[in-house]
Order: sequence, then structure tokens, then C-alpha cells
Amino acid sequence: MPSASSSPALAPSSPSGSSSQRPCKHCNQIFPRMKGKELERHEDSHEGEEKALHWVCTGVPILRASEYGLKDKDVQKYITAGRVMLYEGQYMVGGCGKSLCRPDALARHLRKPKGCIGSHTADWLLGNKFKKQ
Ligand SMILES: [Zn+2]
Ligand SMILES: [Zn+2]
Repeated sequence: MPSASSSPALAPSSPSGSSSQRPCKHCNQIFPRMKGKELERHEDSHEGEEKALHWVCTGVPILRASEYGLKDKDVQKYITAGRVMLYEGQYMVGGCGKSLCRPDALARHLRKPKGCIGSHTADWLLGNKFKKQ
């Protein structure tokens, strides 16, 4: 029995003309209902996350601890005290995990006597990696 119903309009209406739909430049997601401002805010939140990881009191990588004057027993001490963190895929010791907004703030943080160890010019810091690009 032939169906008399006309073919339903299932074809997706192509959003021609709406050039404002672009993916988030950080996670590449397209948020169909986000307008310019909302997308900007979404992207800002990524940048906030990223910046928060740029200048972190990470300590030094366990594998390179000797370069920073740490002996094996110092490293052990940090491990025992739980001062180990994973940063960019490396185990680090001697830092407190505090994130600073700028390299000079990190430098000041590291200068404190009996404070954390590490370096604000260290190549593992994302802040320094981004600068080199
Ligand atoms: Zn995103
Ligand atoms: Zn610290």
C-alpha cells in the first residue's frame, strides 16, 4: 500500500550564514548554543586553567634531583613527607604545589629560607615552555 505522505523534511537545515559558530580553540568543541561572549568565557576558563599550571612550585624532578643539590636521602625525606607531585608526567619533590601567577612571584616564593626548592626558570615549567614557542 503506497504511502501518500510527502517525504518528511529530515534534511538538516544547513546553518548557512552563521559564521559565529566556531569551535573552542582549546578543546575544539563546538557549542551550538553558545554565543560569542559565552564562548569567550568558556575559552577564558581554559586559559585560567592553563595559566594556573604555568608557574607552580613543583620542586624538582626526582630524576634530576642531584642537579639541584639534593641527595638520595633528601629525596627520600620528601617522599616520606608526601611532598611528591606529578607535574607534566614527571614525579617532582620539594615543592608545595602552590601555583603562582607570574615567574617573579614563583622566584620570590622559592627564595624563602627553608622554603621549597625548585627554579622559576626550569624547563619543565609550562610557563617556560610556552615562552619558547
Ligand atoms: Zn573548550
Ligand atoms: Zn612552595
